[in-house]
Amino acid sequence: MDLIVQKYGGTSVGNPDRIKNVAERIIKEHKKGSQIVVTVSAMGDTTDQLIKLMKEITHKPDPREIDMLLTTGEQISIALLCMAIQSEGFPAISLTGSQVGIKTNNRHNHAVITGINNDRIISELNHSKIVVVAGFQGVNSNDDFTTLGRGGSDTTAVALAISLGAKRCEIYSDVDGIYTADPRIVHEAKKLDCISCDEMLELANLGAKVLHPRSVELAKIYGLELYAASSFNHNTGTIVKEVRQMEKRRSVTGVTSDRREVKVAIKGIADRPGMAAELFSKLAKDEINVDMIIQNLAYGNLNDITFTINEEQLVQGRQTIYRVAEELGAKDVEIDSTVAKVSIVGAGMITTSGVAAKMFEALGNENINIQQITTSDIKVSCLIAEAEAENAVRAIHKIFNLA
Ligand code: ASP
Ligand code: MG
Repeated sequence: MDLIVQKYGGTSVGNPDRIKNVAERIIKEHKKGSQIVVTVSAMGDTTDQLIKLMKEITHKPDPREIDMLLTTGEQISIALLCMAIQSEGFPAISLTGSQVGIKTNNRHNHAVITGINNDRIISELNHSKIVVVAGFQGVNSNDDFTTLGRGGSDTTAVALAISLGAKRCEIYSDVDGIYTADPRIVHEAKKLDCISCDEMLELANLGAKVLHPRSVELAKIYGLELYAASSFNHNTGTIVKEVRQMEKRRSVTGVTSDRREVKVAIKGIADRPGMAAELFSKLAKDEINVDMIIQNLAYGNLNDITFTINEEQLVQGRQTIYRVAEELGAKDVEIDSTVAKVSIVGAGMITTSGVAAKMFEALGNENINIQQITTSDIKVSCLIAEAEAENAVRAIHKIFNLA
């Protein structure tokens, strides 16, 4: 018998009617004769609300208690979903991460799954039950609740699918699949039938929010096929899988933009070996993740080093940046959050020339200045003024004929 793992996001179970809708979809699949394991997120913005509540109590919460709090969100949605399935006359059972035995390491709030015990799930499936597992949570070696980081339910679904040897893992949300660009920005954006894991990973890391990057990484490692679609209609979604064939690869698969980028310039530090190493190791020590890096040509015996970080990191990182700059004897620090990163992603880029040039041409035609550039095998990113982000995405989408 086929085993299918399905995941439904927070919006998909956002209110009682939507929960009933999800129950119907699950029952329909169940009637076809497949065994079904379902993972759900917390309803709507429950997790955000819980975090807000927490902040009204303290700004220095104990990480263990944060997980104790946040895991309640998914416990609500699994129970309600099971009730909805049972009301339709079908057998279902909800299980928390701890009841399943989703083992994680001890890193509260950002735990990593280390193993899953299949026994309970398989026994319930063998009793013809639809099994509904709480997403985003597990237990550490002390049996204390842990969570997998925001958006972690996708990872729960993929890990369950891998552990149970499922035929596929279907991730349902409020969007129809993966598009060549955000359809809210580019009206002609096209839904992709299929995308490679590498491309999906780049897109997910670059701010396309349909799938959580860690879930794609896991799927890639284990060769699991993912299917991303909407729970609000029956349109065909997008398949994410490892493609081995080199032929028929598009040079550019999609365009994205990320407005959360912040540019940091450390100005006038000594131009000598070891300075960059010192700067970035000190930043890394305070867990500041650096993205694009540029070192200018030296003037006199001084250098400017510019890099970007994520907006979220600025809250705690600002102090570190100023402190490190001072320790390195920098003359000045400039922080600019009015920038955005636009990127193109495509596995075929490796074998096609002139792709980057064409992207720059699109920006040039729109009179958009490029402040920084980074590339990888399958990606080109440009830092530009934030106000131009949407304009840039449209122009790039057009020049590569992605519609
Ligand atoms: N409820 C959690 C969050 O909002 C996990 C998830 O939705 O995937 O981050
Ligand atoms: Mg989510």
